[in-house]
Amino acid sequence: VCPTAALTEVNHTNKVWKALNDPKKHVIAQVAPAIRVALGEMFDMAPGTIVTGKLATALRRLGFDGVFDTDFGADLTIMEEASELVHRLKHNGRLPILTSCCPAWVKFFEHQFPDMLDIPSTCKSPHIMFGAVAKTYYAEKMGIDPESVVVVSVMPCIAKKAEAKRPELTKDENNNVDIVVTTREFAAMLKEAGIDFATLEDSDFDRILGESTGASVIFGTTGGVIEAAVRTAYEWITGETLENVEFSQLRGIEGIREAEVKVGDRVLKIGIAHELGNARRLLEAIREGKVHYDAIEIMACPGGCVGGGGQPYHHGNMEIIRKRQEAIYKEDRNKPRRKSHENSEVLQLYHEYLGEPYGEKAHQLLHTYYEAKERI
Ligand code: SF4
Repeated sequence: VCPTAALTEVNHTNKVWKALNDPKKHVIAQVAPAIRVALGEMFDMAPGTIVTGKLATALRRLGFDGVFDTDFGADLTIMEEASELVHRLKHNGRLPILTSCCPAWVKFFEHQFPDMLDIPSTCKSPHIMFGAVAKTYYAEKMGIDPESVVVVSVMPCIAKKAEAKRPELTKDENNNVDIVVTTREFAAMLKEAGIDFATLEDSDFDRILGESTGASVIFGTTGGVIEAAVRTAYEWITGETLENVEFSQLRGIEGIREAEVKVGDRVLKIGIAHELGNARRLLEAIREGKVHYDAIEIMACPGGCVGGGGQPYHHGNMEIIRKRQEAIYKEDRNKPRRKSHENSEVLQLYHEYLGEPYGEKAHQLLHTYYEAKERI
């Protein structure tokens, strides 16, 4: 992941064009939360301009058969991850639970902390969960041959290209996600197609995998995943309605943060780190027994995915990252639903297909495992 363009990603836009031009394929796109607050910069808009509606329109203009939101996958991730947290708390399971939606972080802990592989959440990341659901539930509901479905992820992240090919995430050599393009590659596709992005009208994502809540939007910034999980876990543990969903103590831009959140009669101790040097310091302190946490969120990039390696170059300018972060929180505030367990399409998915969160079918489709890898 190089924020200064000294290294660039392998370009996969040709694969997307090829799929879009194949009439036998049903090609669907999903876009990560952090794209909507940064893509505009590639078209001379100010950092932090929210372009969610233009994004959906642009994907349709490119010819995708389905235009979806990884935020749906993020809400699904919270259903599983919050269930896993509650399960560990109730059954004296191993703590802290570590978030697992950042593939650079997953690779880091497999190589550097092979003795601690039992603490990360087993949840697949949101775009991989989305792909798994698209090739099963969605294909079935739409009457489409799952073999014809091509899932394209538009991501702020270069590491997601390697993640999509992880053997742990593919079943019978079938990938959940077929092609990953970065924000920069996606902008290049729009320019190649002659789409005047800045003047596009807004539109919405398609149903049945397009609804999202504010909780899923905040996945795009450091602290957001754990805040989304706390919003849901709080209501599940206490049985009470959470009135104020904004946990300011989990927000910020400092490299390592910690906070205590009262959930019923229990106080959850939460750690947050972004950038892998900070993650290493946190994990080493846990390994040495110097600190205790119940849950930890780690993201490899500065500021989380808003500062991702596939985003418009920010050259380490934290002011740009801060503006993208503010836009993420604004998008959350504007959502009618702000808790993942209130996403009606996600609830429909459990009702019609998955059964219980953290149940057997959900495990088969939405969870993964980790393996110790050689130290490098
Ligand atoms: Fe990818 Fe960076 Fe986000 Fe991790 S923090 S998922 S490496 S963009």
